[in-house]
Amino acid sequence: MTTTRPVALVTGASSGIGKAAALALAAGGFDVVGTSRRASGVARRDGLTFLALDVADDDSVTTAVKEVIARFGRIDVLVNNAGIGSSGADEENSVARAQRVFDINVFGVMRMTKAVLPHMRGRGNGRIINISSILGFIPAPYMAAYAASKHAIEGYTESLDHEIREHGVRALLVQPAGTNTSFESNAVAPDMPLQIYAEQRRIADRLAATFNNDGDDPATVAKAIVAAATDSKPKLRYGASRNARRISTARRILPAGAFDGQIRKVNKLAR
Ligand code: NDP
Repeated sequence: MTTTRPVALVTGASSGIGKAAALALAAGGFDVVGTSRRASGVARRDGLTFLALDVADDDSVTTAVKEVIARFGRIDVLVNNAGIGSSGADEENSVARAQRVFDINVFGVMRMTKAVLPHMRGRGNGRIINISSILGFIPAPYMAAYAASKHAIEGYTESLDHEIREHGVRALLVQPAGTNTSFESNAVAPDMPLQIYAEQRRIADRLAATFNNDGDDPATVAKAIVAAATDSKPKLRYGASRNARRISTARRILPAGAFDGQIRKVNKLAR
């Protein structure tokens, strides 16, 4: 089967931001393929096609991308949304824990990108939209592995975009602030907890849950993703909400000392 409609492939479309983005892209005229590790075979749900995909698995990525091209004949937009959080102080997390976060949030994005690029380059057209975070440009005490993974995505995407632009393909970033999804409950917990960090870790976990629960509606982030997919002159970075754009401005204009103080105050760290 091939289609004349543009095709969007959205990773991690079973919940949260990915689900909202998949529905918004479908409403915007895309044929949408959403993925979940729990999907079995190829299924239709909510007007979307669902495929099984684990972005941490090379074979799973290759198979899923081949399947989409075989079924639809094209991939116009890839939304690299699948991601997991981390919690605990850096010293409380093994390297293996951090590797797990990077394997999904960073290498998962690279695997998907490498799988779709030959196809997009061949067509001289395509957009790769990577879901970053405000934690891709500000620090996150007690979520260091996660913040590092999103900082990595920022550098990766901006570099890649320079390489592929002349081939008609763009790599773009969408930066959500706290968003009301299951993200917190899916975060990787520390595997080497230390008493010295216990109280501050609990404060950080409570704060993260509050930012999540009181955060933006995933539909707001989905609007930014649709804009990145469809704008005739796309921007490299899309702040996903008013809150995300406000924090981005603060990061750029506040003196380093004042910003550092704000981070310690918000995170209830001794000053
Ligand atoms: P959710 O936990 O609701 O969704 C995460 C999605 O990622 C799920 O659909 C899950 O699908 C998928 N996923 C997890 N691991 C894998 C994997 N190995 N392979 C394939 N899919 C996987 O969180 P959000 O919707 O909040 O998160 C979406 C993105 O937004 C993430 O990249 C996150 O970092 C980013 N973000 C979120 C913010 C927030 O406050 N919520 C703020 C800033 C950025 P399944 O389990 O079905 O496979």
